[in-house]
Amino acid sequence: MGEILRAENISKTYQAGRVVVKALNRCSFSVERGEFVAVVGRSGSGKSTLLRILASFDKPDEGKVYVEGEEISGLKGKKLAQFRQEKIGFIYQDYSLFPEYTAYENVLLPLKIAHQAVDKEQLERLFEELGITDCRERYPDEMSGGQKQRVAVARALITSPQLVLADEPSGALDSHAADALMQLFEEINQEGQTILMVTHSTKAASHAKRVLFIKDGEVFHQLYRGNMNNEELYAKISDTLTMLTT
Ligand code: ADP
Ligand code: MG
Repeated sequence: MGEILRAENISKTYQAGRVVVKALNRCSFSVERGEFVAVVGRSGSGKSTLLRILASFDKPDEGKVYVEGEEISGLKGKKLAQFRQEKIGFIYQDYSLFPEYTAYENVLLPLKIAHQAVDKEQLERLFEELGITDCRERYPDEMSGGQKQRVAVARALITSPQLVLADEPSGALDSHAADALMQLFEEINQEGQTILMVTHSTKAASHAKRVLFIKDGEVFHQLYRGNMNNEELYAKISDTLTMLTT
């Protein structure tokens, strides 16, 4: 096993005009290889900020991020690009698809950039499991939010990254599509990929093996699934959220 990701005392402050927002406040936790971790917190609790810093899209004011023991804030230029390409699949909260490319082209882009061959079977299977086969030739503005979100998931998974970082990946999905996505996450996790997902959805989080609770930019509590099934974990997360916010 071993540790794949570690956040150490991450702080991040935003300044919008005169207003200063402490988005992350000495946030620390680690993720073992093979885990499926959900980070749960309300809107504005710092989830997206945290995920962007973990993927090194953004720099923390203070603190360090380690991936496989290597401090990623030390990486620059080509090494940084290579690190993202090889290790991380990132699912953006706002999808971030390229409008001038079809769904297919968007999903194939990471392979192209990494000069990797396309596994046609894997590609078709991903589209099928995500229920977006009809969207293959469509451009982003010809798709619904939920369809775009699933295309963004396919794009993050096409390179079979060791570490999947997902920002509210079911945020635009109906309950059926959300369940299918979480089942896909469970599958790829069973096959060895590590998943860190941030979400405000208790339902989505109930598919994880461990749940971290974030509030005011800080991870302050966690739950392990243990022997609980999804329904039991769902109830436990709900109870915990109620207890912690009252
Ligand atoms: P979450 O994803 O949990 O909703 P975010 O990480 O997006 O939370 O935001 C955490 C806090 O930081 C919020 O108060 C948000 O308004 C603020 N924030 C996020 N990004 C910026 C930014 N670029 N400029 C100013 N404030 C920001
Ligand atoms: Mg967010």
